[in-house]
Order: sequence, then structure tokens, then C-alpha cells
Amino acid sequence: MSNQGIEQAQEDSSEINSLTENGKNVAKIFCERCSSLVLLPMKADLIKKEFKLPHMRKKNEASEGESETLCDYWMVDNMYTFENLGFSNTVDNIKYLICADCEIGPIGWHDINNQKAFYIAVKRVQHGEN
Ligand SMILES: [Zn+2]
Repeated sequence: MSNQGIEQAQEDSSEINSLTENGKNVAKIFCERCSSLVLLPMKADLIKKEFKLPHMRKKNEASEGESETLCDYWMVDNMYTFENLGFSNTVDNIKYLICADCEIGPIGWHDINNQKAFYIAVKRVQHGEN
């Protein structure tokens, strides 16, 4: 873990803070496309980590997309914590996580060499009550 810049932390803290309590997710986490439930409240830790994630697309649309660097992720240490989660292709030891129902993704990623870390991009999911 690198030191996190104070300026960057303040920049998006208001939005992120409303989603967390004691560093965990207060709301349920859904697929933003089909509203499939991905995680129940208080199951994931918010972490800061820079990771380049390809843009979202449907699994069967095979074209190579561009990627963007995202910094806010929900981290879960056990894949059975997820309510619904699908897996896409593995590229360079990174397995991409997709919606189990509509297969939009990647909504997150998993390093196959680390079985205790699954990351869901905060920007790519919905946070809500029901
Ligand atoms: Zn979905």
C-alpha cells in the first residue's frame, strides 16, 4: 500500500463517505444495468487502489476495449461472500468479475494468485436500499 495523498482523499470523500460506515459498505450493492444483487451491506471494505480496468461491455462483445484507471474498490476476501457474481476471461493472472445475470463487466477484478482479494469498482455498481 502506498501513502494516499490527502488532496485526493478529500476530493471524493463526500460521495464515498456516504457509502461507508467504519470503512464498510452501508448499502446493498447492485449491478447498475440489471439490478442483480452483488453484495449485502457491511460485507466489503472500501480500499484505495489504482487499477486499470477495461471499459464495460457485454461478455460476448469480444472487441478489445480501452481501459481506465479506477481508485476506489470494494474489497471482499472470500468469493462466497458475494450474492451473485460472474467471472469473465483471465488476462495476465487477472480474472475479471462480471454481473452473474446480465454479464456486463468488468465490474471488478481478482488476481488469481491471491485467493483472499476480490475487488469491485465503486464507480461500476449501484448502491441502494432494496
Ligand atoms: Zn447485471
